Amino acid sequence: MDDRYSILFEPIQIGPKTAKNRFYQVPHCNGMGHALPRSVATMRGIKAEGGWAVVCTEETEIHASGEIAPCLEGRLWDDSDIPAMAQTAEAVHIHGALAGIELVYNGHAAPNRFSRIPPVAPSSISVTSRDPVQARAMDKSDIKAVRKWHRAAALRAKKAGFDIIYVYAGHNLALPMHFICKRLNQRTDEYGGPLENRVRLFRELIEETKEAVGDHCAVAVRFAVDELIGPQGITHEDEGREVVEMLAELPDLWDVNVSDWTNDSATSRFEDEGYQEKYTAFVKSMTTKPVVGVGRFTSPDTMVSQIRRGVLDFIGAARASIADPFLPKKIEEGRTNEIRECIGCNICVASDMMVAPIRCTQNPTMGEEWRRGWHPETIEPKRSDDDVLVVGAGPAGLECTLALAHRGYRVTLAEATDELGGRVSRESRLPGLSVWARVRDYRVSLIRQMDNVAIYEQSRLTVDNVREFNLSHVFVATGSTWRRDGMGRQHRNPIPGLEKMQALTPDDIMDGVKPHGHVVVYDDDHYYLGGVLAEKLKRDGHPITLVTPAPDVSTWTHNTLEQERIQTHLLNMGVNIVPQTRVGSVAPDRVELVCVFTSRSRWHACNSVLLVTERIPNDALYQALQADTNALAAAGIKTVRTIGDCHAPGIIAAAVHSGHLAAREFQAVIRDIPFKRERVQLATE
Ligand code: ADP
Ligand code: SF4
Repeated sequence: MDDRYSILFEPIQIGPKTAKNRFYQVPHCNGMGHALPRSVATMRGIKAEGGWAVVCTEETEIHASGEIAPCLEGRLWDDSDIPAMAQTAEAVHIHGALAGIELVYNGHAAPNRFSRIPPVAPSSISVTSRDPVQARAMDKSDIKAVRKWHRAAALRAKKAGFDIIYVYAGHNLALPMHFICKRLNQRTDEYGGPLENRVRLFRELIEETKEAVGDHCAVAVRFAVDELIGPQGITHEDEGREVVEMLAELPDLWDVNVSDWTNDSATSRFEDEGYQEKYTAFVKSMTTKPVVGVGRFTSPDTMVSQIRRGVLDFIGAARASIADPFLPKKIEEGRTNEIRECIGCNICVASDMMVAPIRCTQNPTMGEEWRRGWHPETIEPKRSDDDVLVVGAGPAGLECTLALAHRGYRVTLAEATDELGGRVSRESRLPGLSVWARVRDYRVSLIRQMDNVAIYEQSRLTVDNVREFNLSHVFVATGSTWRRDGMGRQHRNPIPGLEKMQALTPDDIMDGVKPHGHVVVYDDDHYYLGGVLAEKLKRDGHPITLVTPAPDVSTWTHNTLEQERIQTHLLNMGVNIVPQTRVGSVAPDRVELVCVFTSRSRWHACNSVLLVTERIPNDALYQALQADTNALAAAGIKTVRTIGDCHAPGIIAAAVHSGHLAAREFQAVIRDIPFKRERVQLATE
C-alpha cells in the first residue's frame, strides 16, 4: 500500500464496536429491498469482501403505518422479517465487516398505499408524494406507539445480527426530521415550539435505542444538517448546528449529510466530489464521536485530505461503493489505477425510483450478484483458444473487450475513429458531462496494459475487412445514429417539411456543425441530451426554444433526481421552454407547434431545428455479415453478435451491461430465463 493512504486503514471505535478501517458504506436504497433479500445480501456481502469496514442496509421500515410501497426497502415490521434481514448481516460478517441497519419511520413521507393506514405527522399535513392523502396529526399515544415500534425494531435488528443501529433523521423522509423542521411542526405541546422541544422525539429515540441495544450494538444517527432551502428550513449555520450541539455525545456515531435526496445525491452535472464539506465540516468540532459524511468520494487523495483536515473520520459512500465495491481493497493493495470511479450519473438512483433492481453505469455486475452470479472482480476463465474481434470502441465494445480479455481470450478491438470511447467521448465534451469520460478512461487504461488485447484505431471496418481478420468470433458494437426525420414517440412518420429548414441531429452538433440563429430543440427523447444540447447552444449564443411533448424538460431525469435543477438552470439561462407540445411541421422560417392535448397549433419563428427523438442502430455491418453465411464460414467466423446501441439503442449503462453480458455468455450455456428468481412464499394461513 502507498504510505500516503495508510491513514485510511486505521481502525476506529464506534461505541462497543470497532471498524477495521475508515471505509463506510452508508445506507442506500437498491430497488430490491424486502422483496429480494438474497439479492440484497449478496450485493452487500461483496462490498464487505471489497474491504468496506461498515456496510449498511437501505432504510428499513419499522412498522406498517410508515411504508412506501411500491418502493422496496428493508422491513422489520415484526419478527417474521428477521430472517430476511439477517441474511445481509451474515453476508457482511463473513468478510469481517460491521453490518449497519437504518431504521426508518417515514411519517408523512409515507402514503401507505399498501397498508392503507392513514400516515401520521407532527401536524395534519399532505403527504410528500402527490397521493391524495393527508397525514393525521399525532397525539401523545401515537408518539408513544412510534417509540415502542422503534425500540422493538432495534431489538429485532440486534437479533438479526446488526452491529450498528441507526436512528434516521435525514432526507426529509423520516419522522424525527419532520418534528425538528419548524415549517412541518405546528405543535404547541412539549414536542413543538422551541428547537429543544422539536428535537425531543429524536433524542428519545436515540436514548431508547441505546437503552435497548446499546450494550451490544453501536447507535448511529443520520441527520441532514442543511436542507438547502434557506431560512425556512434547517441550515448548517443555525438549527442544523444547534441540533448537533444539543445531542453531540448522545449517539455513538454521526452520519451527516444534506437534504433532500436530490441534494444529498447530486449528480456530477451539478456538483463536484466533496461537495457536502461546506455544510457538514462543522460537525466534528462539536462532538468527540466519529463522523461519517459523503460526497461521491473516489479519489484516495481527497479521502486522506478529508481526514487530515478534520472534516470526517469515516469516508462515507453509497455511489462510490456501487460503482466499485472493491474500492478500499484496490487502495489498500496499491491498485488505484483499477478503481472504477463513479461518474455521478444517478442511474443507480433511477432504478430505485422505478422500483427495479439497482444498476450502475460503471459496474454492470451491480444487482446481478445473486441472480446471475456475477462478481465485480472475477469472471469465468476462457473456454477455448478462439480469438475474438470487437468492432467499435464505445462503452459496449470497450466493456466487452475488457471482460473477454479478463477471461483470457485474445481480443482485437477495431475503432473507426482516432478516439476510443464512442458516444461517451463525444458526450463528455458537452456541458456538465465531463466526468462521464471515466466510463472510457477506466476501461481504456486497463485494456491498454493487457497483452492479450490489440487495439486498432482509425480502422473503420468493412465486411471484407472483418472477414480478412480471420478471427473466429465477432462482436459488432458499432453504435447508433440519431434520426434526422423527427420520428419518435410522437411521430411514427417523418415530420413534414424538414427539408425546408436546417434540420440537425445531436450527432451533427457533436460533430461541430453550427446551427443558424434561433434554434428549436425538439426533445422527444426525454433524458439528458435535449437539455444538455439546449444549454450548449444557448452558451454558444443562440436563442433557444426547447419544445417537448412531456410536461417538463428532460422529464426522465426525475428518476436521476436532476429534473428540477435542469429546468431551473435552463430557465435561468434564458432558454424558452414549451412543454406538452410537439413540432407538427416545418416551414422555411418557422415550425408549427401543436398542443399534445387539443392539437391546436401556432407558428414559431426560428432558423434551425434540432431533433432529439430516436436513434437508428448502426447494424449494416452485422446485416451484411449475416447475409452471406458461406463467406462467413470461409473466413472461419463461427459467431457474430451485436451489442450495445447497435443491438438496441439505450442508455450508456445498458451498453456497458450489454457488452459485459455478451462477454459472460460467450461460449457459456445460455438459459432461457437467464437469471434466478426469488419467489414469494405461498401463505399458509
Ligand atoms: P455503444 O454505446 O453501443 O458502445 P457507441 O456509438 O458509443 O456505441 O460506439 C460505437 C463505436 O463504434 C464508435 O466509436 C464508432 O466510431 C465505432 N464504429 C462504428 N462503425 C464502425 C466500424 N465499421 N468499424 C469500426 N468501428 C466502428
Ligand atoms: Fe455512480 Fe452512476 Fe454507478 Fe450510480 S449508476 S454508482 S452514479 S456510476
